[in-house]
Amino acid sequence: MRDNLTQLSYVVAAVLFILGLRSLTRPDKARQGMQLAAVGMLFAICGTLINHEIVDYRWIAGGLVLGAIIGYPLGMWVPTTALPQRIAMSLSFGALASVLVGVSEYYNALHGVGEAIGTARMAALGFEVLLGSLTVTGALIAFGKLQEILPGRPLTFPGQNLANGLLFLIAFVLLVLVILDPTRTTAFYSMVGLAAVLGVLMVIPIGGADMPVVVALLNSYCGLAAAATGFALGNSILIISGSLDGASGFLLSILMSKAMNRSFSNVLFGAFGGGAPAAAVGAGGALPVRAISAEDAAIQLAYASRVIIVPGYGMAVAQAQHQVRELAELIEKRGGEVKYAIHPVAGRMPGHMNVLLAEANVPYDRLYDMDEINGEFPQTDVALVIGANDVVNPAAREDKSSPIYGMPILDVDRAKTVIVLKRGMAAGFAGIENMLFHAPATSMLFGDAKASLSKLVSEVKAA
Ligand code: NDP
Repeated sequence: MRDNLTQLSYVVAAVLFILGLRSLTRPDKARQGMQLAAVGMLFAICGTLINHEIVDYRWIAGGLVLGAIIGYPLGMWVPTTALPQRIAMSLSFGALASVLVGVSEYYNALHGVGEAIGTARMAALGFEVLLGSLTVTGALIAFGKLQEILPGRPLTFPGQNLANGLLFLIAFVLLVLVILDPTRTTAFYSMVGLAAVLGVLMVIPIGGADMPVVVALLNSYCGLAAAATGFALGNSILIISGSLDGASGFLLSILMSKAMNRSFSNVLFGAFGGGAPAAAVGAGGALPVRAISAEDAAIQLAYASRVIIVPGYGMAVAQAQHQVRELAELIEKRGGEVKYAIHPVAGRMPGHMNVLLAEANVPYDRLYDMDEINGEFPQTDVALVIGANDVVNPAAREDKSSPIYGMPILDVDRAKTVIVLKRGMAAGFAGIENMLFHAPATSMLFGDAKASLSKLVSEVKAA
């Protein structure tokens, strides 16, 4: 009876996970998707708690309290702009759980407690601790780089890829040896240690700019480790959720690489992403910049027929999405047409802009992907850039020496006029100069995006 209840709750959990993931494909359904997945997780936990193998609930209760103490502040108080490092931290915890489960199952089996280890089970356990251990340290290094505790630049040494390849090969050979004979404890624990070292070595040569792609990839490793845990424990929900996690993390890392015009292998082995040399940042420092007042910018917007709003990371920092919607509605009331151009890597996570704009009730059909809208910029009266920088940098199209050369961008520089809202002339994530800000058709409205938009709203009302 208990077993049936457990299996039933796992089936419900799996269905809710899949529905939740599906809802995440639409920004207006994303919140609902997360709620479905959270209810799914509740079913999975309850199903596990009624498992007949549990003989003492005290440790579990302690674990649940500890998890809630760590999880609540992580969920409630970490700003969305810091999500990549938060996810890296969660991945490290998740992978650590897999490693601990794997090591304890192995230890127990060798000491006659629990199920004996057959070849298939040993393969699953070995795979689980190998991937898990690598993810624990890799995700910690990614966290350190994203949080700027560690230097964001790629840390390289000659023969690094060869050394990493060799280490991986040794870890793999140890895995095979343990699968063939599970009593080889030295090989098992050496493999765990080696994988941890490999996690560090794999992530240190990758620069800060590529780190979110790496986080997505580590996410997939963590998912695969969880799926392997599921195989080792005969737990169906771990197999299903781990596989979902593994596959979606892998696909996401490929999509992100594409959006940054970086080949996947280049991200992993290219030691890119440390930003441009310092000279590049200041290259445009001497060039003129045309500052504009909120009054003048409001007049341009009030009388424009076609406006494209281009949100970027600065909109997320300023939390200016509600003011953006208010301004767009005012322009529309005056007869102007407003569209939103969404770059796939604007902000700091995929879908960042879509989620923020959906939260401010911007109609979903006003949001246009880069490919859909790029052809419209030449007919656009005003392109209003709100805290975006790298994703509108023409150097990606024109300057072969630029670190972002080849990355697809929004062709804002082709609009009739451009108004950029940002606080100063600071560089964006890639750390490079943006000549768009010095172009003759560009005016800069300096200040925090939220404050500038509030001024624009009152000026457009008055116009
Ligand atoms: P950028 O990081 O290029 O630029 C953001 C700009 O916002 C800065 O230049 C900053 O200038 C400005 N800004 C910051 N705070 C405010 C504020 N309060 N008010 C107004 N402006 C502000 O952002 P983009 O969105 O253009 O590009 C995203 C970058 O992140 C790309 O390089 C992308 O590759 C990278 N990335 C994105 C990922 C994703 O999944 N979305 C993942 C990994 C990386 P100032 O300080 O002068 O105000």
